[in-house]
Amino acid sequence: MKKYIWIFVLILIGFALVCNINSTPKVSGGLMGSDSTKKINNSESDGFEIKKSEEEWKQILTPEQYRVLREKGTERAFTGKFYKNHETGIYVCAACGNELFSSETKYESGSGWPSYWEPVSENSVKLLEDTSYGMIRTEVVCGKCGSHLGHVFDDGPQPTGKRYCINSISLDFKKDSTK
Ligand SMILES: [Zn+2]
Repeated sequence: MKKYIWIFVLILIGFALVCNINSTPKVSGGLMGSDSTKKINNSESDGFEIKKSEEEWKQILTPEQYRVLREKGTERAFTGKFYKNHETGIYVCAACGNELFSSETKYESGSGWPSYWEPVSENSVKLLEDTSYGMIRTEVVCGKCGSHLGHVFDDGPQPTGKRYCINSISLDFKKDSTK
């Protein structure tokens, strides 16, 4: 009889342990869950008005445009068509035509890429954290289609102090014929 009582006690202890184990992860799980909401969403295809498959982009863009705009490539310095362009007008996204930069904010940075101190509007471009090549940089993508344009640095002229360093091949130019 005594033997049965001991087995009963052991089963009770067993239950108590199982309940404890089950309740512990619930608490820490809740705390960990709140952390995940702080995660920065760096996905390129999320939240952009214009969405196309990579196959569709390949049909629209030249291979060199595709390499820079969709695969985040960089054209060689001093080789682009716009770094020396001084005409008045608007620079638009080569992939979707979204207005990006005005010639009024373009300046000579000496970098060999077209440089601007401000985009046309707050929503014309989107900024993403770029940690490739062991550097922490801010990537500039088109606000409408998410295509890669270049990077922004903090060594630009006033009034913003920003240098939007953009690949010519990511841009098209709409000349202002009224000026
Ligand atoms: Zn675009």
